[in-house]
Amino acid sequence: MRVQFWGTRGSIAKPGPGTARYGGNTSCIEVRSARGTLIVIDCGTGAHSLGQNLLSTASKGLRGHILISHTHWDHIQGMPFFAPLFVPGNEWDIYGPKGLDQSLRETLAGQMQYTYFPVTPDQFGATVRYRDLVEGTFDIDDIKVTTHYLNHPALTLGYRLEADGATIVYCCDHEPHSRKLADGRGEIVGQDLLHAEFISGADLLIHDAQYTAAEYPSKIGWGHSPAEYAVKLGQHAHVKRLALTHHDPLRNDDALDSVLAGIKDGLQTAASSLQVFAAVEGEIVEVQPSRFKSSEQSLSQFSATAPIETALAERPVLLGVTDASMAVMLSEAIRAEGIRTNYFSAIDEAQNLIRKDRPSLVILEHDRTGVDGMAICRSIQQLKDDETPVVMVAAQEDPEAAANGVSDWLITPFTSSYARTKIRAWVLRTACRWIRAAIPDNEQRRIAVLRELKILDSDAEERFDRVTRLAAALFDVPMATITLVDEHRQWFKSRLGLSAREGPRDAAFCAHVVYSSEPLIVPDALQDVRFADNPLVLNEPRIRFYAGYPLILDDGCCIGTLCLLDIRPRTLEGPDLERLHDLADIALEEIRGFGTR
Ligand SMILES: [Zn+2]
Ligand SMILES: [Zn+2]
Repeated sequence: MRVQFWGTRGSIAKPGPGTARYGGNTSCIEVRSARGTLIVIDCGTGAHSLGQNLLSTASKGLRGHILISHTHWDHIQGMPFFAPLFVPGNEWDIYGPKGLDQSLRETLAGQMQYTYFPVTPDQFGATVRYRDLVEGTFDIDDIKVTTHYLNHPALTLGYRLEADGATIVYCCDHEPHSRKLADGRGEIVGQDLLHAEFISGADLLIHDAQYTAAEYPSKIGWGHSPAEYAVKLGQHAHVKRLALTHHDPLRNDDALDSVLAGIKDGLQTAASSLQVFAAVEGEIVEVQPSRFKSSEQSLSQFSATAPIETALAERPVLLGVTDASMAVMLSEAIRAEGIRTNYFSAIDEAQNLIRKDRPSLVILEHDRTGVDGMAICRSIQQLKDDETPVVMVAAQEDPEAAANGVSDWLITPFTSSYARTKIRAWVLRTACRWIRAAIPDNEQRRIAVLRELKILDSDAEERFDRVTRLAAALFDVPMATITLVDEHRQWFKSRLGLSAREGPRDAAFCAHVVYSSEPLIVPDALQDVRFADNPLVLNEPRIRFYAGYPLILDDGCCIGTLCLLDIRPRTLEGPDLERLHDLADIALEEIRGFGTR
């Protein structure tokens, strides 16, 4: 991928002799994949020159995508002056975080109202589409885009772009979640750790570095990072190159030089391999793919382009969960949908918040030994709208729940991905078409037997791989696995056509086979209420067809499956099922052999 910086200044454009070298225009970056896909990130005043450049070099019918991090002026002020939007025949998609009170289109149109600007967005000559985003992933042609909320006093998204084997991450504007990290010391934990994971392994990280650690104490809460924090993150996350940007309008070129020199000294002393530079307006950076790239990606990814209706998302979710890590996980899942969370710890607080804020969903917790969620549920029943669901987090369901007003259960343990799908369905008042497999009665013994085999986390082996290879060839499917279902995960002893080594049990089709000990055929997952909202169906690897044959040991424990996967719907019956059975028996023989080796 190729990156060109068109605006590197933060907050306000600052042209003049003092900023001539690093540039005076506000945030705007052009990204091109090898195939030519064009993405513009942010539309600060730098977008004016970019627009002129595009018109002078592009042929007719220019196709492009604009990713807006947030709608503060310095990130959108160039948009009314971005000429390619005014050319008929051009086609632009504009993406940005879904605002809580209005859509991206309305917000952007705000700065083009008659009192501020002579031309309205209706007069854009190009075909322009607006797309509201939440946290998740989506594809722009050959570029995979992942979004993550940043810490800034406006709803702000960071963007991770992956194409051609290279990764570029853009995080502007953002400040450390923990003040202890401001000087680049302190441990990266909690929200900052999630931020580090988002940027991990980037070949080029473009990060907010408006302040220095010395300046930061008087700027806390302004939403910008000290350069030392960006460097610390880059080192922690094994970033290759770090471009410092959103330069403070009060910092002239010489002052920026000395900030950079100080950082480079520090890196040299620490013998760090991280390359740091300050972004220069006009500069082009070719981003080469890394040699070391983790091919194992999380199996559960959310679509960022299907946010909940603004009207529903305006109403908060009321969360009353005392367990700290559970509360964090749930509020993360709620936030990822662009929804606010209200917390309470006492009944009267809950009652007040329900009267005042009309939550779209109430999540309580019930624990027979400690918290009496049922009592809280009864106390709010008269106060809330009839259609507001009350969900109880608990280790098991309680038969008296319905009488107390409980609408549904969230049984522990669960993955954040599962919680998010359920929350989305509850808020939208739709059915959740993702049903987790139940836990078999012999689970304890089953897990003990599986672990005794000592096969989990062992290396891939030809003896197993030839079975999946044969299966894929015989049934003409692109993916086949030998899956073992562990306590909280499915793990693949052999996987053909899949990059992930394991995934959460919540999402595992094979967990259904393990529960029933029967073969399972899913002709079209999108039409199946158990799987249609499953992240493995909605996102990579986009499973449509599944056929799993149980692997049952002599004592009756089903430890996993031999399974076939396809991205096309299809069927499997009669003699084919018998052949799958034969192959499953071969896999089972190898597994038995593994235990005795
Ligand atoms: Zn900014
Ligand atoms: Zn901002």
